[in-house]
Amino acid sequence: MFAEQPLIGFIGLGIMGRPMSRNLVRAGYRLVVHDVVAAPVAELAAEGAVAAASPREVAAACDVLVTMLPDSPEVEAVYLGEEGALAAARPGWLAIDMSSISPRVARLVAERAVAAGAEMLDAPVSGGEPGAVAGTLSIMVGGTASAFERARPILAAMGRTIVHVGPSGSGQVVKVCNQVVVAVVIEAVAEALVLGAKAGVDPARIVEVLQGGLAATKVLEMRAANMLGGRFEPGFRARLHLKDLRNALELARETGVVLPATVEVEQLMQRLAIAGRGDLDHSGLITVLEELAGFRVCDAVAAGG
Ligand code: NAD
Repeated sequence: MFAEQPLIGFIGLGIMGRPMSRNLVRAGYRLVVHDVVAAPVAELAAEGAVAAASPREVAAACDVLVTMLPDSPEVEAVYLGEEGALAAARPGWLAIDMSSISPRVARLVAERAVAAGAEMLDAPVSGGEPGAVAGTLSIMVGGTASAFERARPILAAMGRTIVHVGPSGSGQVVKVCNQVVVAVVIEAVAEALVLGAKAGVDPARIVEVLQGGLAATKVLEMRAANMLGGRFEPGFRARLHLKDLRNALELARETGVVLPATVEVEQLMQRLAIAGRGDLDHSGLITVLEELAGFRVCDAVAAGG
């Protein structure tokens, strides 16, 4: 536990990091922030945060560092690189990486933090941008129980369901499981909508009925509007979901597990990225199925089914 309110560093002010850091400011924490892009740093600075020039500078200034970065290479660069955060790690200092990355890299970076006398948690999230804005994220935490207890009040400013799932790397294992389910469900929903709409039924009616039965899913609740409207502003970028599926396949190889559906969705997501649509929301996966069928669901909606 901290004797007084810790000073928090926040690196990675993107779709998720911006609202998450804002919730920390609202909860009364003082923040030092950094991102490679200037605009969100200026935005947070205008709301009372202090801007820092490098991860090392943030780490030196804060008691607890929170990171929300795209992928494993960025997490490695921010913590282990030249001017990286761990250069300023010290006993009592705590790092919480909330990015979704490879469990292997999470364990590696945490080991380096511990070697520097500090502590580190992997704490990826689920709930998307709406959950980040509302402060209702689900947070799955890997690391020691004592580090988890120190982090809990900070995590509570950003999330609602906060679960310690095991030792270092376990949070990322659970996140990978989450992303497998979401990707496979998106693909299944996309298949169903393309099939039903091309067969002549209004896809909006299909969604309405599916949501009342066993096929009901949060994916349809939160992404049907994108799929029916043919608009895919992120949300959650498809290229980040592709990264998550690759992390799942890496974990499956290391663990000796077969993931046939994940392999197929990874290939379809790769097709989306190759076509230059990796920055669409992940629900844009439906466009790949539409191309294969030679039929667009949003045209069927416009035509009234
Ligand atoms: P994003 O691309 O919008 O934001 C990432 C931020 O990190 C950007 O502002 C970028 O400039 C910054 N960044 C990149 N490299 C950096 C570096 N070396 N130093 C400092 N800053 C750097 O991504 P996001 O949607 O906010 O997602 C962040 C993480 O959260 C990802 O791992 C993603 O998989 C995960 N996630 C996202 C969602 C979602 O719905 N968007 C939901 C759950 C989890």
